[in-house]
Amino acid sequence: MTPETTERLRAYVDYLRDLGVYDLYRRGEPRPEFANLLAPVQAPRPVAAAPAVAPARAPASPVRPQVSAPAAPSLSPFAASQQRTNASAPPKPAPPPPPAPLELSPAFAPPDMPLISFNARAELPQHRASPDDKPAALQSIRHHIGDCTRCPLAYAGRRNIVFADGNPNARLMFVGEGPGADEDASGVPFVGKAGQLLNNMINAMGLKREEVYIANIVKCRPPGNRNPEPVEANTCSQFLVEQIDIVQPQFIVALGAIAATYLLGVKKPLVALRGQWHDVRGSQTAVTYHPAYLLRDPSMKGEAWKDLQRVMVAMGLKS
Ligand code: SF4
Repeated sequence: MTPETTERLRAYVDYLRDLGVYDLYRRGEPRPEFANLLAPVQAPRPVAAAPAVAPARAPASPVRPQVSAPAAPSLSPFAASQQRTNASAPPKPAPPPPPAPLELSPAFAPPDMPLISFNARAELPQHRASPDDKPAALQSIRHHIGDCTRCPLAYAGRRNIVFADGNPNARLMFVGEGPGADEDASGVPFVGKAGQLLNNMINAMGLKREEVYIANIVKCRPPGNRNPEPVEANTCSQFLVEQIDIVQPQFIVALGAIAATYLLGVKKPLVALRGQWHDVRGSQTAVTYHPAYLLRDPSMKGEAWKDLQRVMVAMGLKS
C-alpha cells in the first residue's frame, strides 16, 4: 500500500470514527469476557423512507406515432434509426425525489471512551497456567491476535504487530505505551535508543533482559509516535490483560504516564502516581518515567533510579 493510499485510508477511518463507527474495525465478534470493554455504538436514527413514486402508467394500447419519412436527406442512417426508436419508446417514469437528508442526532455522536483500569476489564482467571504451559498460552494469544484489524492502528501504516519480549515466567514485567519506529520495523518491543536505555536500567537492577517480560499497551505503532487513543488502548489492552494473567508477574513497572493511565484507569500526572504501589491484576505495580523521556531529559534518570530501587528492595534484589 502506498503512503498516499494509507493516508487516504486513515483519513476515511478518522471520518468514520468522528461518526462514532467504532465497530467497523473489528473482525468478528469480541470475546464475551471483553465485550464490555467497548462502548456501545448506538444505532443511527432510521431515515424516513422516501415516498414511493408510482411509475408512469403505460398507454393501454400504444399508438405508434406517425413517423414521417425523413425529410432531410442529410440525416445519417444511425440518426434516423435513433429518431425512430425515441419516437416509439414509452414515456419514462419521473425520477424519484431526492432522499431526505440524514439527520445526525446527538445519539450518533462519537461515544466517550471511558478509562477502564485493567482490574475492571475482566475477572481474574480462576485457573492459572503452570510455568510449563505459559509459553504455549502466550503463543495462543498471539495466534488469536492474528493479522489484527480490530482498531484504527491496523490502518495507520504499521509494519509489524509488536507482541512482547522476554521470559513467560518473569517476576517483573515492564509495560510501555506502544511501539516506535524501530520496534515497528523489528516486531520486538524496546529495541531502539529507548530500548537500549531500558536494557541498561534492567542491568542496573541486577537482571538481564531475558529474565523480564516487556510489552506495550498497544501492539501497533501509533503514527508519528503519538499517544494511543482510548479506542485503540481499550481495544488492544484485552490482549495485555491476558498476557499479564498468564505471566503473573509479581511486579509491574509502568513506563510513563500513558502506560500508567491505561493500566490504572486514572488520569493523573506521573508525579502523583510515583512513589506508591498500585495493584494491577494482582501484581504490585510501580510507575516511573519512560526511557524515551529520560533520553530527552537525562536529569530525571536519578528519579527513575529511585523508583527502580524501590522495586529492587521489594524483589529482594541487590544492585
Ligand atoms: S493496536 Fe492492537 S487492537 Fe489495534 S490493530 Fe494492533 S493488535 Fe489490533
